[in-house]
Amino acid sequence: MRRVALLLCALAQPAAAASIAIDVGHYFGEPGVISARGRPEFEFNLDLAREIEAALQARRYATRLIGADGNMKDLWRRPRAANGADLFISVHHDSVRERYLSTWTHDGAERRYSDRFAGFSLFVSRANPDWKKGMRCASAIGAALRNAGFKPSLYHADPVSGENRPFADKDNGVHYFDNLAIARHAKIPALLFEAGVVVNREEETRMSDKNVQQRIAASVADGVEACLKKDEGGRMKDE
Ligand SMILES: [Zn+2]
Repeated sequence: MRRVALLLCALAQPAAAASIAIDVGHYFGEPGVISARGRPEFEFNLDLAREIEAALQARRYATRLIGADGNMKDLWRRPRAANGADLFISVHHDSVRERYLSTWTHDGAERRYSDRFAGFSLFVSRANPDWKKGMRCASAIGAALRNAGFKPSLYHADPVSGENRPFADKDNGVHYFDNLAIARHAKIPALLFEAGVVVNREEETRMSDKNVQQRIAASVADGVEACLKKDEGGRMKDE
C-alpha cells in the first residue's frame, strides 16, 4: 500500500486537482465602498475576481466564482457555495474610517476620498475550523504580492485608526479578524483579500488598470500554488 501511495504521489499533479472558490464581495443592492470617483466596490471586486479566476485556470486549478451575478444578498450562501473546494478567497477593495475622508469634486459630483492609506490586506478568522491552512495561504499570497512590488497596508492593526485588527503575519499584511462572518462560517480554509484602497485617488486609478489587476491575480495564483503545494507535500509525507 505504501508503495502505491508513493507512486501516486510521484505521478499526481497536486495543483491540477485543487479547487478554489473565489467570492465576489458584496452585491448590487449593497455594493460596498464607493470609490473616490464614485464607482461601487462590487464592480472592482468582480473585475479582479474574474482575473484571479483566469490566472488560476491557466494553472489548471478548478475554480468556482461566487456572487458574480450581483444578486447574492444572503451572506451565509457564500461559504455554503464554497463547500467542497480546497480554499475560499473573498475578494474586496478597501476604504478607511469615516473621519479620514475628505470631499472633492469629480466629474461634477462631490465625492469622498482619502489619500492617506494605500495597499493590500489579508484577513483570517481563528474561528474557521481550518484557519491555519487559510493563514498559510494568506501569508503566501501576501509574500507573492510583495514579490511583485505591491505593499501591504498596515493601518488595520493600528489602534489609533480605530481598526485594531492584530497582525497574524505583519510582513505579509495578514491580520486576525475572528468575527469575519464568511471565514467563520466556511467549512474550508478561508481568507479575505482587500486588494487596495479605492477611496485613495491614486490607488483607485491603479486598481482600475487591467494590467495591474492581472499582476495582482498572478500573485494570488502564485501564493495559492505555493501554499497548496506545500500542504500537499506535507500530507503525502504523513501518509
Ligand atoms: Zn468589501
